[in-house]
Amino acid sequence: MGDAVAVQFGKSSVYTGIVWRLHDTPPAKGEAKPILQVLYDKPLLSELQMRFWEWIADYYICSVGEVMRVALPSIIKAKARCEAEFEPYVPKRETTVKLVAAAFSDEVRAKMERRAPKRYEALCEIERAGGVLPRYAVELDATALKALVKAGLVEMGERDYKLDSEWSKMLLPKLSSAQAKALDDIRSGLSDKRVALLHGVTSSGKTEIYTHLIEERLARGEDVLFLVPEISLTTQLVERMRSLFGESVTVYHSKLTPQQRTKLYTDMLSSESGNFVVGARSALFLPYKKLGLVVVDEEHDSSYKQTEPNPRYNGRDAAVVLASLYDAKCVMGSATPSLESYTNYLSGKYAYALLTERYGGVEMPDIVISDTVRNVKRNERKLHFNKELLDGIADRLERNEQVILFQNRRGYSPYMECPSCGWSARCPHCNVTLSVHQQKGRMVCHYCGYNEPIVRYCPNCKTTELKAMGFGTERVEEAVSQLFPEARVLRLDGDTATSGTAYNRIIGAFARHEADILVGTQIVSKGLDFADVTLIGILNGDNLLASPDFRAEERAWQLLMQVAGRAGRRDKRGEVIIQTAEPEHSVYSLIGDYERVTTKLLAERKQFRYPPFVRMVKIMMRSSNKSLLVDSSLRFGEQLRNRFGRRVLGPVSPLIDRVRGEYRVELMLKVEVESSFSRARAILREEIAKLRSDKECRNVVIICDVDVM
Ligand code: ADP
Ligand code: ZN
Ligand code: ZN
Repeated sequence: MGDAVAVQFGKSSVYTGIVWRLHDTPPAKGEAKPILQVLYDKPLLSELQMRFWEWIADYYICSVGEVMRVALPSIIKAKARCEAEFEPYVPKRETTVKLVAAAFSDEVRAKMERRAPKRYEALCEIERAGGVLPRYAVELDATALKALVKAGLVEMGERDYKLDSEWSKMLLPKLSSAQAKALDDIRSGLSDKRVALLHGVTSSGKTEIYTHLIEERLARGEDVLFLVPEISLTTQLVERMRSLFGESVTVYHSKLTPQQRTKLYTDMLSSESGNFVVGARSALFLPYKKLGLVVVDEEHDSSYKQTEPNPRYNGRDAAVVLASLYDAKCVMGSATPSLESYTNYLSGKYAYALLTERYGGVEMPDIVISDTVRNVKRNERKLHFNKELLDGIADRLERNEQVILFQNRRGYSPYMECPSCGWSARCPHCNVTLSVHQQKGRMVCHYCGYNEPIVRYCPNCKTTELKAMGFGTERVEEAVSQLFPEARVLRLDGDTATSGTAYNRIIGAFARHEADILVGTQIVSKGLDFADVTLIGILNGDNLLASPDFRAEERAWQLLMQVAGRAGRRDKRGEVIIQTAEPEHSVYSLIGDYERVTTKLLAERKQFRYPPFVRMVKIMMRSSNKSLLVDSSLRFGEQLRNRFGRRVLGPVSPLIDRVRGEYRVELMLKVEVESSFSRARAILREEIAKLRSDKECRNVVIICDVDVM
């Protein structure tokens, strides 16, 4: 069991399957197909992994096949046309690009920097990496690379794709007494509990504490998994871990090439235990042999949840299940623990350790709330900037310190509007406005990717005075460059950090103080540590609270805390300036006061029956046939109400009720934590099957999102 096999269905389709169970019951319909080939010399999945897949499929209401889709690298499970294509692909060598240092002279550099900045940057990147980088990490297309080879600046080569090397015992940093106490609390807490929650303010040294726990496990020959919420965060962390644990640290996430993922998976399959993996949630599916510890860093982060497609699992919660399957321990860390995890500590389920101070006595920053309405009245607001923020930036520039500006929206502006008739540019496939991206010269749908050139006149009344409404990071970058022409500005968002290398380039340049101001989206709030940043500006705090979602306030507050944690350094207190039209909102006055925020939010959640007091399943129904969708969703709502009564809400139209030409409605199921959730899921499955047995309704897509974020 657990073997990968090839089976033919139909004339020309061969599929990979996993042997799940051996039995001799003939299929109800049709004939059993023969196995064409066993694909690897050993099973791809262990018994424990199979239990883990089953748990995910059961809990998140999807099929085991859908779990397989995220769990195995695509090469292993590829659907092929013929048997021959099933040669398991295991790359042994990788192509490299080597910088010819002698040719990259000062003269050449100066010329290239002006004339070919992209190529110049790529070469600098190779230089910084020590002179050689694998081909996939060099951000140049084939033509550019060829030209550089021809010019004698780089040489192409090959090297062994060696990922494993000896883990060397190293010297871990000595912990401060507060840190040592927290480590002790975790150790003793884990003696009788599965999970420990490490609640430590930003820069308190949570990562240092993890390293001590990791070292113990590796020394015992156990596997360790270190989860981070986002791929972009792996790079910095991996560097830090490699400097401690040597080259043996493995990075695993969904953005690696299929070849790389396959190589890592199969390597681990044939290796002994003692693997140290840093990765995003998909790393939960690697073939661990003796998993001893799972670290879940930034456990509150909603990026741990897969939103699309199935399985819509939460990596943090799945980590706890994985740990219990392996009888391993789990340590979760955050500066702003989620209400769910904090409640688990309060109820005695999780152990807990607290770090209230930043390492080295760095002070928490000063928080300044800047009233946008008052600024407008006094005529002191310029291009999205209030006076307080303008003065703050000018002051930092003068002192050669750095500034981060945060705006949670990419692009130039979220929509283009006609001031005379009110027309706005909308996506033809989704019920949303098109965002303006000035640099690309296009208007883009952030839901389906549809884009078109920026409109120059109103198609409705032919006015040419269209206005770009609101502002995103691109517009902030433009404004700040106008207001402070001498400042060097970088931007970090989904449009500039298109790959890990691009992300590293921007972060690296800012860390080396090659720019004064960094404008960015959420990405800048995560895991970054810049010594010279003493001011953080939040351009529009109201934006954070604008979403109708019940988690909006918790999220806004977490984000403000995380962003605030990036400001300040040992010798100088940092400052955070938040621009808002609603300065009285409690989210601002409570920044930094975890207990009070948590008490307030938990009381609200309890009153209005939200998690962690209930489990919520969002049921999404989709169809391109609107009346069919309305009919079947009303019917499904009735069906569910018959079983669950008032625990069912909807159907309602979501805020964005059409995406990619498909209409959407939603139902919500709230199950009290005291009642059996597995029973509720079983009923839900039954009712879905019942609806699907209707010929017409079968064409409506039904998707469940358990523990919706
Ligand atoms: P967190 O993970 O809580 O945000 P980090 O572990 O990244 O905090 O620590 C913040 C900074 O303080 C890092 O630069 C780290 O190297 C330094 N630091 C923390 N603890 C120690 C220690 N015990 N010895 C030396 N440096 C430390
Ligand atoms: Zn118009
Ligand atoms: Zn669209």
